[in-house]
Amino acid sequence: MANHDGPELFDVVVVGGGPAGATAATDLAAAGRRVLLLDKAGRIKPCGGAIPPRLIRDFAIPDALLVARIRSARMVAPSARHVDMPVGDGFVGMVDREHFDSFLRERAGSAGAEVRDGLFERIERETPGLATVHYRQGKGGAARCVQARLVIGADGATSSVGRAEIPGHARMRQVFAYHEIVRRPAGEGHDGARCDVYYQGRLSPDFYAWIFPHGDTVSVGTGSARKGFSLRGAIRDLRAGTGLDACETLRREGAPLPLKPLRRWDNGRDVLLAGDAAGVVAPASGEGIYYAMLGGRLAAEAAEAFLATGDARSLALARKRFMRLHGRVFWVLGMMQWVWYRSDGLRERFVSICKDKDVQQLTWDAYMNKELVRAKPAAHARIFFKDLAHLFRWVSP
Ligand SMILES: Cc1cc2nc3c(=O)[nH]c(=O)nc-3n(C[C@H](O)[C@H](O)[C@H](O)COP(=O)(O)OP(=O)(O)OC[C@H]3O[C@@H](n4cnc5c(N)ncnc54)[C@H](O)[C@@H]3O)c2cc1C
Repeated sequence: MANHDGPELFDVVVVGGGPAGATAATDLAAAGRRVLLLDKAGRIKPCGGAIPPRLIRDFAIPDALLVARIRSARMVAPSARHVDMPVGDGFVGMVDREHFDSFLRERAGSAGAEVRDGLFERIERETPGLATVHYRQGKGGAARCVQARLVIGADGATSSVGRAEIPGHARMRQVFAYHEIVRRPAGEGHDGARCDVYYQGRLSPDFYAWIFPHGDTVSVGTGSARKGFSLRGAIRDLRAGTGLDACETLRREGAPLPLKPLRRWDNGRDVLLAGDAAGVVAPASGEGIYYAMLGGRLAAEAAEAFLATGDARSLALARKRFMRLHGRVFWVLGMMQWVWYRSDGLRERFVSICKDKDVQQLTWDAYMNKELVRAKPAAHARIFFKDLAHLFRWVSP
């Protein structure tokens, strides 16, 4: 909409059309707000693409987007011993981000958002109460600007919006994750319904490595925050050790993965962050898609409150609500990573703990539904004492 003689005017400009931004734009547009969703086109987000049933339910993901359904996870210890954890009822979905993200952006468009291919450059404040968002239209295209009452920065872990607007953003704690997309091996040897997770220091000294089936392709990846550790070398070794070195490599790509939610997601004025831009990825697992979409939804709710009242304190609601829902689980996962991912001896014990049926059930319940099952205090206590026994080496792995 034209602002008389000035730039186009929106209620909200959402920068970044990944899971977080597309969700925020969809919700706001569906609520009748004027929304511009700005996304730089041309790159598929590097991602393992595993999503839980809770996400599929809450965000109405159509079956057609699922390229695989995972029925079990294989946890592989440093000694190469492994533990299989069957999912039980249900499955973990696998999506290809190329199609998943396009679908989410198109859905935002159908809900009424204006979707543009554009590279965010900066925010200026020329008119009271309005942020002027400068961007480049298309690749190397013309400089453009629009105005909005609020900017939602959902432009990923290295968010330009976050770096410019939220103090300390550039110091966000991250691991770097790298994966290779290979063609699915022919023959019977490859289980297209099982995710393999490697807890081995040679493949990742502080995170884990993975093999995730994706229908016709497979994602083979690893992550680490350790400078100098060769992620490519680790994937070369993992592929060689599993026969995947013989498969055609379709893409090699990587991206940072935040490890801790930022203390502030808004600038107290006219900018709010969501998803990776706010540092919202689960420690230990690196799961970010569900939390990005929830972050986008909570950002839309906070934006709605801000637009309705003009009170910038409403922007803090997004973080507050998110941390109330998931802060405790993030803390537990952070402790788990800190305790168990430190040495091969501890990793061996960690995988050993996964043999326990209670551990398996609680892990899947927590992952699939994003809720801790409170009805099982005895199981929680048993797991706690087993953890202690392994940590203090009272039992062998
Ligand atoms: C290798 C790897 C494997 C992973 N595997 C999984 C997994 O299996 N399951 C899981 O749940 N999570 C996984 N994650 C994490 C997950 O990918 C992220 O947490 C999730 O994508 C975050 O969504 P987002 O919308 O916040 O950001 P992103 O998905 O990063 O989207 C940001 C968007 O902003 C756009 N953008 C960036 N800069 C600009 C700009 N200046 N102007 C305009 N647009 C811009 C980008 O083009 C992009 O579309 C993985 C991550 C990595 C790196």
